[in-house]
Amino acid sequence: MAGKSAAQTVLVTGASGFIAAHVTQQLLRAGYRVRGTVRSLQNEAKVEPLRKLCPDAKHELELVEADLLKPDSWKSAVEGCSHVIHVASPFPNAPPKDENSVCKPAVEGTTSVFKACEQAGTVKRVVLTSSFATVSGGLGTTPNYHYTENDWPDPDKMLPYEKSKLLAEKAGWDYVKNMKGINKFELAVMNPGLVLGPILSGTYCTSMEVPKRLMLREMPALPKIILPIVDVRDVAEAHIRAMTLPEAVGQRHMLISGSMWMLEMALVLQKEFKSQGYKIPTLIAPKLALQIASLFDPTLKYLIPSLEIVASFDKKRFTDVLGIKPIKNEDSLIEMAYSMIENGFLPKKPAYRKP
Ligand code: NDP
Repeated sequence: MAGKSAAQTVLVTGASGFIAAHVTQQLLRAGYRVRGTVRSLQNEAKVEPLRKLCPDAKHELELVEADLLKPDSWKSAVEGCSHVIHVASPFPNAPPKDENSVCKPAVEGTTSVFKACEQAGTVKRVVLTSSFATVSGGLGTTPNYHYTENDWPDPDKMLPYEKSKLLAEKAGWDYVKNMKGINKFELAVMNPGLVLGPILSGTYCTSMEVPKRLMLREMPALPKIILPIVDVRDVAEAHIRAMTLPEAVGQRHMLISGSMWMLEMALVLQKEFKSQGYKIPTLIAPKLALQIASLFDPTLKYLIPSLEIVASFDKKRFTDVLGIKPIKNEDSLIEMAYSMIENGFLPKKPAYRKP
């Protein structure tokens, strides 16, 4: 185990992302020294919101450049850190044509970060942001299945993004298993469901996709699917607890506080935003119509096996071990939609094309 003399500096990779910005803010508020990585310090849209995260922080946020595809960029980023929260990974809002565009940075990036941690010799623990997709494989297809951290899907049956997360998490576990010598560090893995809640980062992220599609009526009717949900503030808190809690070492943690049908999400948004001019769709798309449409739309094809499938999720590690008292799914959804309006990702006064 690395020496205890290392300063309590925490590295957050991809600090400007939706989840990582909350992790960074909570760490700063708790008084940690925080170093965050961004791909370019010249990118004002990403860097400026980070400067405002915690104006009265005990230690000013340090920002450095690092890229998952540039192995050499991680040595100086990790130098002197006692903990690393590795969040950065591509999260596209549509399946890419070439799976390598996500798998390569996810897997090689994880290996580069872990190698730099071992070489630094000061890192005690890494918390890796994986995904619930590495437990379920994507949207569930087995009726009434109860998911636990012991579940691992088959990578050959997964879409590119989900596969990138699975291969990256496996690369992380393999790296730690094969480490020898005094620079060994511990690993805790976080597996969040769909993360919702207020936005601190200045740029669009894939988590906004479902609320945006509902608020802008981009889908005329709703597929009958259920989504596992968790609030971004709870996800950030879980990462920080996992950084020091002895029970988190060597474990995966499903971060899911509940689940909602798309229709339930639509009804929550309709109740809150109808009076503000938003026309949220609340019709369920018939299965047959979706099956026909899926012949022409590959995204829909992926949904078909998950239609009407109900699953449940083990929350023990999230609530009992990490001790999180989850924010209600409805509140996360509403706060995210308001935050998207405030930050210009949704219009204050929506205009819809006539059908
Ligand atoms: P964001 O897209 O907001 O954040 C992704 C971060 O990864 C960004 O900071 C991005 O940097 C960084 N990144 C991507 N590619 C590279 C690269 N080549 N080099 C360096 N940094 C890179 O998404 P989220 O915050 O939502 O997701 C963060 C993590 O959480 C991801 O690992 C995602 O898979 C995981 N996750 C997210 C869920 C969700 O619902 N949001 C659910 C489950 C898991 P840049 O800003 O420069 O693009």
